[in-house]
Amino acid sequence: MHFGAHVSIEGGVWNAPANAAKIGCEVLQMFTRSPQGGHTPVIDAEVAKKFQAAMKKNKISAAYIHAPYFINLASPIDRTRGFSIHIIREELERGSILGCRAVMFHLGSAREVGEEKGVEMVKEGLEKIMKDYKGSCQLLIEISAGAGAIMGDTFEDINDALQVKGGEKIGVCFDTQHAFASGYDLRDKKTVEETFKKFDKIIGLKKLVLIHTNDSLTDLGSHKDRHAHLGEGKIGLAGFEAIVKNKKLKDVDLILETPWEDGQGGVKKDLNLLKKFRG
Ligand SMILES: [Zn+2]
Repeated sequence: MHFGAHVSIEGGVWNAPANAAKIGCEVLQMFTRSPQGGHTPVIDAEVAKKFQAAMKKNKISAAYIHAPYFINLASPIDRTRGFSIHIIREELERGSILGCRAVMFHLGSAREVGEEKGVEMVKEGLEKIMKDYKGSCQLLIEISAGAGAIMGDTFEDINDALQVKGGEKIGVCFDTQHAFASGYDLRDKKTVEETFKKFDKIIGLKKLVLIHTNDSLTDLGSHKDRHAHLGEGKIGLAGFEAIVKNKKLKDVDLILETPWEDGQGGVKKDLNLLKKFRG
C-alpha cells in the first residue's frame, strides 16, 4: 500500500513528482490540463521522458490523473456529452504516453435527463471511450456522494456501468468521503470490513485500484461532497487506521484530496498519519 496526494503541475507535468516528494508522497495524483477546461499542455515523447525521469528521481511509484471537472456523460447537450467522451479518451491516451497508472472520473449528473436515460447515456459513453483503446493507462469510475442527481453513488450503480462492452478493462476509485456521504459507514474496524465486504460482493475487490482518502465534513448519508483532513471530520481516525490495516486492501494505493488552503502542512500531517498506521 502506497500513499500520496493530489499535487500541482505548475510549470509542467514533470514538476509534479518533486512537488509530491516534497510533502512525503510515494504515489501522486494530478491534472494534466486545466480542470475547468481551456489550457491543454502538449504531452509527447519528450515530455514523457522528462516526467518519467522526475518520477524515478523522486521515487514516486505510480501517477494517477484526475479528469477535468466538466465531464458529464449524461449531459442533454450533445456537444458537452461528445466533448466529455473525447476528453476522457484523450486523458487515457495522454496517461499512456506519460506512463500513468489510471485516470479517474465521475459519471456525471442525470439532473436534466432523468435517471433511466442517464444510465443509458453513461453506458453508451463508456463504450465509446473504450472502443479500440489499446493504451496502458486504466480508466477508473469514482464513486460519488450522490448529491442531486449525480450518478455512481452506489456499488450497484457502478457495477451496472461496468457491464458495458470494454467494461472488463475499467476499474474503480473508492473515495472515502463520497462513499460515507452516500451512506457507507467507515467509522471503525467493523464498519470498514462490512463496507469493503459489500464492495467485494457487488463489484469485486479486484476492480479496486485506488482509494481517495478524505475525512468528511458532513454526516453519513448526507450526500454532500465536503472533504476534511483525517481525524477532523465525521469518519475519524479509527476508520482510516482500519483501511490501512485491512489486509485485503494491501495492493491498493491511497491518495489524499484533503484541503490545501491551509498550506501543505495539513496534507503532510495526513500522510504521516497513514504511514504511522502502516507501521
Ligand atoms: Zn475523490
